Amino acid sequence: MGSLQLKSIRKAFAGHEVLKGIDLEVKDGEFVIFVGPSGCGKSTLLRTIAGLEDATSGSVQIDGAEVGHVAPAKRGIAMVFQSYALYPHLTVKDNMGLGLKQAGVQKKEIDEKVAKAAGMLSLEPYLARRPAELSGGQRQRVAIGRAIVREPKLFLFDEPLSNLDAALRVNTRLEIARLHRSLKATMIYVTHDQVEAMTLADKIVVLNAGQVEQVGSPMELYNRPANLFVAGFIGSPQ
Ligand code: ADP
Ligand code: MG
Repeated sequence: MGSLQLKSIRKAFAGHEVLKGIDLEVKDGEFVIFVGPSGCGKSTLLRTIAGLEDATSGSVQIDGAEVGHVAPAKRGIAMVFQSYALYPHLTVKDNMGLGLKQAGVQKKEIDEKVAKAAGMLSLEPYLARRPAELSGGQRQRVAIGRAIVREPKLFLFDEPLSNLDAALRVNTRLEIARLHRSLKATMIYVTHDQVEAMTLADKIVVLNAGQVEQVGSPMELYNRPANLFVAGFIGSPQ
């Protein structure tokens, strides 16, 4: 579970169209990367999938069911942002468990799920701390942990590593790849970083000015870019 179908997604803000008819198929369990220049609509597309924005027209389907009118919390999706968006007054443990608590899950089950996610992310020593007492990398792991405990079928990551320094980016990228293998969930991930794109993706979607330029595996895009824009973005020699 966790396939996604986008059909002719259009989105305009105050008459300015930022998504100009996006079609995309994501298979269950795939790791899909969105790349494209700043302002091309990557975050808007993720937010539309999550239900945080309504498309102006077009259809979003998860596992074959239309979700256009399904509330964000009911879509089986978790989103991880660049800015972490943790609650400063809550401990790591409570930040990770808050979504479950709001959903009415019993304390015992919350504790078990948080402990399991903390184990996966090596966060056990930090469960009693507050976000201000953590490094950037640890905060981002808490944000990922908060997503995992909800056991979503689809993860959306919006440039999750761009606030981290180079060494931490490598570690966290490897951790996300490991999670993808162990959770077997579908992941859609926006990045500016070519190394992240080439190493994480089953499939890369190259976006430009609200349209899809090309979809393919890293090797397909590298060896057979559809046009100069893709070649320039992926960094192939042609
Ligand atoms: P990216 O993530 O690729 O950098 P975004 O999806 O954030 O691009 O933005 C795409 C375009 O939509 C930009 O021109 C941006 O200014 C505009 N935009 C995004 N969100 C809003 C909004 N809430 N209101 C008006 N314009 C917006
Ligand atoms: Mg963005």
